[in-house]
Amino acid sequence: MRPKIAAGNWKMNGTAAALCELDALSRALPENPPQVVICPPSPLLFRATDAVHGCPIQIGAQDCHAERAGAFTGDISATMIADTGATHVILGHSERRDAHRETDADVQAKARAAWGANLTAIICIGESNAQREAGETLEIIGAQLDGSLPDDVTADNTVIAYEPIWAIGTGKVPSIAQITEVHDFIRSRLNTRFGTEIGNALPLLYGGSVKASNATEIFAVENVDGALVGGASLKADDFAPIVAALASA
Ligand code: PEP
Repeated sequence: MRPKIAAGNWKMNGTAAALCELDALSRALPENPPQVVICPPSPLLFRATDAVHGCPIQIGAQDCHAERAGAFTGDISATMIADTGATHVILGHSERRDAHRETDADVQAKARAAWGANLTAIICIGESNAQREAGETLEIIGAQLDGSLPDDVTADNTVIAYEPIWAIGTGKVPSIAQITEVHDFIRSRLNTRFGTEIGNALPLLYGGSVKASNATEIFAVENVDGALVGGASLKADDFAPIVAALASA
C-alpha cells in the first residue's frame, strides 16, 4: 500500500505570523489523516518543526544544495535542513529549474545529498505549455525521470510530484484523462527502471492548481497518491479540505 501524501509548498510566502496556520491545520485534520508535509520558507523551518511537535504534520524545505557544507553563500545544505527537525525537501520544482537554471543532473545530485541527511526527496517534474502543445509531454517527463532520479531510489527516500508547469498557480488543471495518462506513464517507467517492487511502491503526487473543489476527482485517479499544493496550502481553511478529500479517497 502506498502512503497518501498531502504536501504544501509555501514558496516565498510567510513570516513567523504564518505559523499559526500549522496549529489551525493540526486542529482541522481528519481522524485518520494521510501524511501531511508542509514546506515553509527556510527561515521558518526551526520554528515550524517546534510548532508541529506532537501533531501528525511533518515539515520540509523547498530546496537544498548538493554539497554538505562550504563556500556557497546563501545556500542551505540537506544536513542543515535535517538539523531543524525537517524530514522532507522539495527538489527540482519548475520555478527552480527555470529561475535558477537547475538541470536534471543538479536535481539528482541534490537528491543524493538529501538522502545522505536522511531526508525524503520530493522530486518535481513537469512539461511546459509549449511542450504539451507540441505533443512532447511523455518524452519530456520520461527524460526528467531518467535524469533526475538516482539509481538507488526507494519508496522510503523519494516521492515524485508531477506538476505541469502550465497548471502551477494558473487555475488551469489538466483533464482527468491527461493526469491519468501521465501518472500511468510515470508508474510504468518507474517499474521498468527500478523493478515492480520499488516502482509500484513510489508515491506519485499531482501538483498544479489543486483546490478543495477539484481534489476529490484528482485523488480518484488510480496512480495519484496525493498532491503537492502551492497557493491552497497557505491557509489551513483552504488546505484542510484537500487533506480531508485525500483521507477519504
Ligand atoms: C506548486 O507550486 O508546487 C503548485 C502546485 O502551486 P499551485 O498549487 O499554486 O498551483
